[in-house]
Amino acid sequence: MIREGDRVAVGFSGGKDSFTLLEVLLKLRDRAPIDFSVCAFTIDQGKFLAPIEPFGEWLAARGVSWTYRIDKPSLNLLTEQPDHGCDTCSRFRRRAVYEVAKELGANVIAFGHTADDFCEAFLRNAMFTGKLGALPPVTWSKKREFRLIRPLLQVTEDLTRAYAGETGAPVIPCGCSLKTGTVRRSIRDIFAELETDYPYLKQTLLTAMGNLQTSRLLDTRYLDLDGVEEEPGGGPFPMIEEDAVIES
Ligand code: SF4
Repeated sequence: MIREGDRVAVGFSGGKDSFTLLEVLLKLRDRAPIDFSVCAFTIDQGKFLAPIEPFGEWLAARGVSWTYRIDKPSLNLLTEQPDHGCDTCSRFRRRAVYEVAKELGANVIAFGHTADDFCEAFLRNAMFTGKLGALPPVTWSKKREFRLIRPLLQVTEDLTRAYAGETGAPVIPCGCSLKTGTVRRSIRDIFAELETDYPYLKQTLLTAMGNLQTSRLLDTRYLDLDGVEEEPGGGPFPMIEEDAVIES
């Protein structure tokens, strides 16, 4: 995910996941056998439930370069279309993220999506979009200006919650985390219920995402209709375009 000379900009939302991501990358930077730098930025879309400035002080005390940007188009969106969905919100955020990353001279943008996000996106896509895919762990922006990485793909939110709690980070919730009646919330609830009996459900799902049996699915591009391929057959699964998946 990270290569020699990279400048990694961490999308920092003030939540437990992006806090953990930033801490992990700072530790990795100090230990890795390659040189790379880390900076953090926050796009304020008007959804924080508390002032984010305390995090600025926290980051400054730790020597982290942090850029905070209020995204005016997102604030206008809140006023003009208060019921906008995640797809619109993500599109606005994505534009702002690329703008800031460019200003910061970054060539890599790191997102704090967790194992929970990967599993939820996988189910959501399968059940609501008719596609089998989750989130790309490593991909590129459309113009290939930035490598986009999601280092926490194997880390569950139980861990990020515990880690952020232990360190006493001034975690700032996002208004959306309280939303009910959404697909996302329903899927979270399904997982929570199943996990009381099957605690390793997410680990199994993540393993499944890395262990495709393409000849046992219904995509005819990967079916060995003429009997010429050996198991598992079918060739590489196509790269999922960054913008072709539902993020949150
Ligand atoms: S959940 Fe995330 S993507 Fe969806 S509206 Fe809220 S902040 Fe935007």
